[in-house]
Amino acid sequence: MVKLDFHPSGRHFLQIPGPSPVPDRILRAMSLPTIDHRGPEFGALGLKVLSGIKQIFKTRQPVVIYPASGTGAWEAALVNTLSPQDHVLMYETGHFASLWQKLATRLGVSTETLAWAGDDQELPGAPSWRRGVQADLIEARLVKDPEHRIKAVCVVHNETSTGATSDILAVRRAIDAAQHPALLMVDSISGLACVDYRHDEWGVDVTISGSQKGLMLPPGMSFNAVSSRALDAAKSAKLPRSYFAWDEIIGMNVTGYWPYTPNTNLLYGLSEALDMLLEEGLDAVFRRHARWARGVRAAVGAWGLPLQCAEPKAYSPVLTGVITPVGMDADALRKLIYDRFDLSLGTGLGKVKGRMFRIGHLGDSNDLTLMATLAGCEMGMKLAGIKLAGSGVQAAMNEFGAAG
Ligand code: PLP
Repeated sequence: MVKLDFHPSGRHFLQIPGPSPVPDRILRAMSLPTIDHRGPEFGALGLKVLSGIKQIFKTRQPVVIYPASGTGAWEAALVNTLSPQDHVLMYETGHFASLWQKLATRLGVSTETLAWAGDDQELPGAPSWRRGVQADLIEARLVKDPEHRIKAVCVVHNETSTGATSDILAVRRAIDAAQHPALLMVDSISGLACVDYRHDEWGVDVTISGSQKGLMLPPGMSFNAVSSRALDAAKSAKLPRSYFAWDEIIGMNVTGYWPYTPNTNLLYGLSEALDMLLEEGLDAVFRRHARWARGVRAAVGAWGLPLQCAEPKAYSPVLTGVITPVGMDADALRKLIYDRFDLSLGTGLGKVKGRMFRIGHLGDSNDLTLMATLAGCEMGMKLAGIKLAGSGVQAAMNEFGAAG
């Protein structure tokens, strides 16, 4: 038999920015027996989650639930609304934004990418990708498109590779200011249910999300929240689609069912997650993540290390990216911390690989799991020979101990 449980005694610390630790309450809900996905019991479950999830996206419009990871929902958003060679404006906030751009190109969409160019002047030798979306760049580009060749603007709400959150309302306003009809598509895979998100109020046409971050579920389920403009666009969009086509799914969802076999036990988990989030109240959920983020940033500041996100208004409540000193391979540090303390931290992705690591503060966490995480980081950095300016653990204790 192959041994798959590598962990020593005690609970493993899964502090990557998703998959996030799954609460026991959700694990128990998912352990219910799998039921007939065409039977009466299933319809009740389907209707409950399809209506509950709308409260999380803050929408009255349909939310399509896919048995796919977030990447599937990225693809779904594009194939339902666009035609081959349609031109799309994307914004490179980090690794996930660039993966979405690559996916769009592979589907036969023509992409153009905006990015902020000033990182290197700020912190010489630091990796790039240190900000959220600069909405004025989007407005300036759309103004130069009087023929409306650009069919969609695609942005990532919470860039999981860096820890920068973007102001989606500002992007909506930029599109409106340019009087441009492009659809607005937003990846809130890691933002949803951690930081405020308003699909309807912010005039988003397609919001993409996934199960394994703020919703606190295992990976394998993803979402498209869809506006009426996006549904109209789907009527004439010509990119090939079948499994991801909205029309059949939304049609069958009316009675709580899907045209194929949905992931029943993840839906049980989703039902429980919705109960938990709505019982606590979304505003309290957002405050909790913001507080954790403040504690973690206080620790990083006390260590004297730079944050990956250079823009205070964009600091993510979901995760914090930490730049390691020049010459210290962040992945070697992560390995040391994993081997010694059974603590998983997020790796640097793409352009920032080896230059930074990520601390996730989402999912089934609390002040003390974060204190343990910060202690693991601090002990690991000392073992790796990094000269720290002071104790991050003490700084985080001051923050968590003081706040109500
Ligand atoms: N977009 C963002 C912002 C993400 O964080 C991720 C995964 O971490 C993805 C897209 C891709 O989702 P998945 O890995 O579930 O396919």
